Amino acid sequence: MTAEPIPKTQTVALVRQLGGPVEFQHDYPVPTPGPNEVLAKVLYTGVCQSDLHTKSGTAAGADGKPITKIKLPHIGGHEGVGRIIALGPGCSDDLRIGGLVGIRFSSRICRRCEFCLAGVEQYCIKSTNHLHHEDGSFQEYIALDADYLTILPDDVDPKLIGPVLCAGVTAYKAVLNANVKVGQWLVVVGAGGGLGHLAVQYARAHGASVIGVDKGDDKRAFVLSLGAAEFIDFTKTPDVIQEVQRITNGGAHAVVVTAGNAKAFAHAAEMLRVGGTLSCVGIPPGRPFLETPISTIVIRGLKITGNLVGSLKECLEAVELTRRGIVTPNVSVRPFKELPQVYEELEKGDISGRIVLQVAN
Ligand SMILES: [Zn+2]
Ligand SMILES: [Zn+2]
Repeated sequence: MTAEPIPKTQTVALVRQLGGPVEFQHDYPVPTPGPNEVLAKVLYTGVCQSDLHTKSGTAAGADGKPITKIKLPHIGGHEGVGRIIALGPGCSDDLRIGGLVGIRFSSRICRRCEFCLAGVEQYCIKSTNHLHHEDGSFQEYIALDADYLTILPDDVDPKLIGPVLCAGVTAYKAVLNANVKVGQWLVVVGAGGGLGHLAVQYARAHGASVIGVDKGDDKRAFVLSLGAAEFIDFTKTPDVIQEVQRITNGGAHAVVVTAGNAKAFAHAAEMLRVGGTLSCVGIPPGRPFLETPISTIVIRGLKITGNLVGSLKECLEAVELTRRGIVTPNVSVRPFKELPQVYEELEKGDISGRIVLQVAN
């Protein structure tokens, strides 16, 4: 079943060799949806820091070593929003041509392992994803597993939803893990970035008072406009930990570190008050460590958590918060062909909010 003529070839942004340049190829085959797959036309996609690390060959795995098992040529993109244009054989009839779907980090799961059964299927032992194993949303057409499909409501803005599907759900889960109550202090380190600006909003939605840490006057204005109570410019503040301790009168209840930089994580736990939670997301390249003394963790009763994105259910909760205007990603839309420049800007850390590429017309 199809809705519109489907071309045989398409434009994709690919990397032939990790560390190599991004190239646009215009005659890449359009996938044919197999059994229980849908074919979606990619409308928009966010650009995530993990895409940058993966294409550069600097992405770290769970053992802290570089991830080397990456499909080449590599086509990144895991914050995509597409429209279903064809159904493969055997798709159930609740799927509809024209419906909006998300292209997320997780692409396929086994549904049988303990993590799938526990509702944390992003940790599935047999999972595949759009970052390392399958072509992602930096292409005009994509085949998706119909049984693990991210079905989006019809009334969402496809330009806004892309960033919710990775940065959003990741920041949302990090704030859930921080477990803050109304009025408690939550620090977001990297508050002006893709993950950070969403973490500020989820924390506000949970009733926390937010302190944003980032650099520069633009990000100060941006982070305060999102509802943060305080902003600390780490380039102008001699001792950020002391400043957090001062504002919060003894330490924050939670710190969410969203920065792509290892230094931001090293001493973040020292911003916490007794019983506080350090919530780590985003994966800095290399094999950096937290440098919190064990005595600090024990004597102050600290909790340290991390999360790899979130489950599909949590992702759809984050989508709903955006649909209802409670959390709004700050996006600037650029043409697909500007992906190489966007990577350069991401590397410099200049981007406030998220860049979204318009992929297909
Ligand atoms: Zn991502
Ligand atoms: Zn599984």
